Formats: sequence, C-alpha cells, structure tokens
Amino acid sequence: MKYKKTRKQKSYGGIQKDLCSSDFFKCVNKSWLDSVHVPPYKAAFGVSEEIEQQIEKQLFQIAYECQVQYRKSPTHRSLETAVGAVADSVLKTASQPKNIHTLQSHIGQLNCLETKEDVARVMGDFCRARIGSLLRVDGTYLDTQGGKYCLEFRRGIIGLPDKLYYDDESPGRWKTLHYYEEYLNKVTTRLALPSLKPVIEAEKKLAPYILLKKVNEKEKEVAGTTLASRYTHIPWESFFGAYGLPDWKRRVFNLESQEWMSIVNKLFQEESIAFWRLIFTSQLIHHFIAYLPPPFDDYHFEFYRKRLRGQAQKLPQKYLLLEVLTDWMTPFLSKLYKDRFLDSSFRDRASDFAKEIQQAAMRRMNSVEWLEPRTRKLAEEKVETMILSIAYPNSFATSPLPQVNGDCLVENIITLGIWKSQQDVDRLGTKRKDQKGWEDPIYAVNGYYYSEDNELIIPAGSLLSPFYDEKKPLGWNYGGLGVIMGHEITHAFDEEGKEYDQDGHRKSWWTSQDKQQYEEKTKDIIHLYSHQRVLGHPVDGKSTLSENIADLGGLAIALDALNLVLEKRRVSLDERKRAYQQFFISYAVSWRIKEKPEKQIQGLLVDRHAPTPLRVNLIVRQFQEWYDAFDIKEKDPMYVDPRKRLKIF
Ligand SMILES: [Zn+2]
Repeated sequence: MKYKKTRKQKSYGGIQKDLCSSDFFKCVNKSWLDSVHVPPYKAAFGVSEEIEQQIEKQLFQIAYECQVQYRKSPTHRSLETAVGAVADSVLKTASQPKNIHTLQSHIGQLNCLETKEDVARVMGDFCRARIGSLLRVDGTYLDTQGGKYCLEFRRGIIGLPDKLYYDDESPGRWKTLHYYEEYLNKVTTRLALPSLKPVIEAEKKLAPYILLKKVNEKEKEVAGTTLASRYTHIPWESFFGAYGLPDWKRRVFNLESQEWMSIVNKLFQEESIAFWRLIFTSQLIHHFIAYLPPPFDDYHFEFYRKRLRGQAQKLPQKYLLLEVLTDWMTPFLSKLYKDRFLDSSFRDRASDFAKEIQQAAMRRMNSVEWLEPRTRKLAEEKVETMILSIAYPNSFATSPLPQVNGDCLVENIITLGIWKSQQDVDRLGTKRKDQKGWEDPIYAVNGYYYSEDNELIIPAGSLLSPFYDEKKPLGWNYGGLGVIMGHEITHAFDEEGKEYDQDGHRKSWWTSQDKQQYEEKTKDIIHLYSHQRVLGHPVDGKSTLSENIADLGGLAIALDALNLVLEKRRVSLDERKRAYQQFFISYAVSWRIKEKPEKQIQGLLVDRHAPTPLRVNLIVRQFQEWYDAFDIKEKDPMYVDPRKRLKIF
C-alpha cells in the first residue's frame, strides 16, 4: 500500500491560506460567520454588538440597582434615583396607557393653533424638548466668536431617513411609500386622528433639501437681529419665548444651511395652519411612537425596523430600557458606569498605548512626500498637539438633576429633552475648556475625532477584547485598537479635518500645490470604491471618501507603531511574520459583522463608511506586510501590483 505523503500545512495564525488570498475578510472570520446568527431583534450583529452585550449586562445591573433605590425612596433626589425613576417608567407596564394619553393630549393641543405666532411657539417648544421638527437647535463652539458656545440651527427631520425613499423608485424592490402610508394610517386610525396622507406629499417636496447628505454652503453666523430681518415670516419672538431664550436678539447663531432656513421662512409665509397641524402631529408621532405600548410600538417596528432594515423581531422591552437611558441620560449613566467598573490604572495603560500610536502618526505625517515640507511639519504638529481623551473624562455634566418621575415615560422623554436644551442655554458664551464631560457615552463602542478641538476620544467601551486585550500575542492590539486610534487620528487630515488647524480653527493651512496633490490621490480612492457593488447596488465612493482615507491612514499608522516595536525588540523574521499575522487577523476580526440585506442596502445610502468586508479586503492589500504575512503571490486574486497600491498618508 502506498501512502500519500501529505504536505505539512503552513500555519497562518490558525487560518486557511487558500481562502486568504481571495477573500481575507471571509477567511479570517469564516467560523464566526458560520456560527453566528443575527438576533431576531437586530438588523446586524458584529464585533460592536458582541462587546455591547458585555456592556449591556453592566448597564442593566446599574439600571436595576437604581430602580431598587428609587422604589425604596422615590422622593429622595440623587443621580441613582433619577436613573431609577426613568427605568421604572419604562418597565412599569401599568403606566403605559398614560403614555398614550399624554401623546394624545399634546396632539390635541395643536387644535388651538390659530396664528403663525402659535406655529412658531410650537416649533420653539419642539426644539426645546428636542422633538424632531423642521428645525433643530443644538449648541456648538464658534471659532469666530472666540471659541464661545453658541446655538446652531440645523435642518430638522421628516418621516423617512433618505430622500431616495421618496422617489418613485425606492431602494431595493420595496414600495416604501406605500408601506409608509399604510403605517401612518394604522397609527392615526388607532389614535382617532385625521389621515396624515397629505404629510407624505409635503415631505416629498421637502426631502431633497432637508435630507441633503452634505450641505455645501459654508456655515454662516448671523446675529439675532439678522435672523429677524432676513427671515421675516418667522415670528422669532414667539419662537424664542417658547425655546427659553428671551435675549435672543443680542445673541449670535450659526446656520447649518441658509437655503433650508429660507425654505422654512417660505413655509411660514405660504402654508396654512392646517399644514402645520399635520406636520407637527406627524412629528409628535414619530418622536414618541417607539415608547408607546402595543400596538403602537409594533406598528413602528413593522415599518421602520422590519421593512426598512430587515430586523425580524421587536426589541424586548428590557432593551428599550437601555435605549432610553443611553439616548437620554448619557452623562448620568457614564458617571455611574465609571464609578462601578473602571479604574485609573487601566486608563493609564491604555493612554500609554495611545501615545505610542500618536508618536507613529507624527512620524508618518512628517514623511508624506507629496505634502510641501512646511505642511508636513504642521501636520506633525497637529498630531503632536492633539488631545488624547482615553476611557473617560475627568468630570461629568450631571447637575442639576432633571425632574423625572416613575410613572410616564413620554413625560420623562420631554423632561430630559428640555433638560438637555437648558444645558445648552446655560453653557452659552462659555469656552470649550470649561466644558464638563463628553457628549459621547464612555461605554460606547466607538471612537471619535473632533476637528474643532483637535481631540481624539476613545471611550472605555472600545478598550475591550477583541479590540484591546492585554493577554493577546504581539501584533494583535495594534491591528485592533491601534488601527481604530490611527483611523481617528487620520480624520484630522480627511475632507473635513484638513480644513482645521491644530488649534481647531477653521483655517486653510495647505498650499494650493498640496490641495492639488490631495485631489489626485483621492481620485484613485474614489474610483476604487465606486466600482464596488453590494447586492447589485453601487458603493458611493465620494460620500465614503473620508472614512476610506481614515481606514487607509489608520492601518498605516498602526503598522508603523508595530514596526517600531519589532525593531526595538530585534525580533527574528519568524516572529515578525507572526506579529504581522496577528495584526491583520485582529484587524479583520474587528470588522466581522453579519447584516440583513435590507440593512446592507440602507447602509449604502446612509452610512458614511464603506461596507465592512470592503473595509478589510480593499485596505489590507495595499500593504506589503500583509503580502509577507500570508505569502500572497502575484497569481492570487487579491494581489495588487505594488505600483498600483493606494497610499495617501
Ligand atoms: Zn471614521
């Protein structure tokens, strides 16, 4: 008998080489993708959701403990009892009819609308309670005002999240508008209200402006008096009276879009009171419906979650609790999370790692050959002066406590919205350095870069495995958390970031030569992504450009940091290869995700990131270290000729 000699399989960090060379994302994540199912109440499940599951357990623990404290002493006012009261209002089923009555009463009050002043008053009330309206008011630090906090008018929202849904040819093959109408009908019938069908027609006309992905106007500041003289049909006195800013004429405001403000002004001039009543009614419904008991939350789920996103089942009630607390009580929950689960030595270690990545990014920016020498130096300085905020902030904005109750969720949502707007008003005129805490939750599995502050924020939620695991072999953390940090740092030089200098001032610091070179480089990136298709639909290379730049730059920076460690440690060739394998496997793992097709298609429309498998496969092949780590050769499908590989920073 002859024995066939089997060739010894090479090890690639435990993954199969054949598949590697054709689809690296799938190859690394194969067993995960085969074994994991998207939970029926979600439209996608990926690494973020895996980590969130751990965090959710901790947040539930906080919420339940707070609820117990609230029930023990409902009149005692503390951080814990405030969270406990809101938790109680979500979980107490007995209080649910009250939610419907509260919404009905708010809708009923719209019958009293008679004048344009009344309309402006309701809009001011909505903005103050942060109920979706045709306008939104938010706070922002304005460079030109000496970095002081001012209010900004932003475009509001309408019923559907993208303007394509309002076209006759909606994305996918679903008759979105038909089902949208059906949804509104069900809700209005149940609430004994007149039909909202005319709202759909109105939204169709507004959609191209209010849902424009990117406003191309330069943001513009206006004095309160200018608002009054320019947008003359809006009764501003009534608006600001309701919003709670009586001295509005002395204030300066920022406008996200002057075009949109002119449209709202025109609507005030031309539209009847009946029009406004319909718009406000639908906006109240949109804002509160997910917080109502069945069948209302079912109607919401059927249309928004199931039809538009492919989610199979409604979120269990207990998850609504987390949704409400994380959406509306961020600083409170963050503070409680930090006190219970985080310690400063962990923060110190993660901060040291962040500094390593920062050093690598400084060197990389100073060696970008297509930037002029002076620009390179400034880019390096921009990274050097970047504020690294890791794990949690030094203080939290938790006072004064909001007056919430344990009986009615809808009332609480209004109270918490008003509480947030009041924080904005109280903060007016202050500078960023005086700000307490972050806007973002510390338990978020995310990373942020803020151009206006030149600040990188990595919340504690992103410092968990598989992104960051102190027990993993060398290479792993650089491919996970390292790339995330590098990605956020690169945002300082993307489409938006490059328009800001190191002090967060909106100021052009690139030469025309630099800009021209940048255009050339980005053309190739746009071209590469625009030629990809997902489920037959094209990827938008332009709207995903900044994120794709950040992906490319982020991986390059983290790889630099790893290379430096490898050099310092004088590792053998084999060890180097293993570290690269760990790096790229960790990178691909950090993007593993399963999505419903509906969610994938919605992502192509509304997400600024490219679809996840592409974020892995299109990126790794631009780096020689990946070829070295997995012995990728010219004949392999993912191979790219070194002269054609993309590199921007
Ligand atoms: Zn990003």
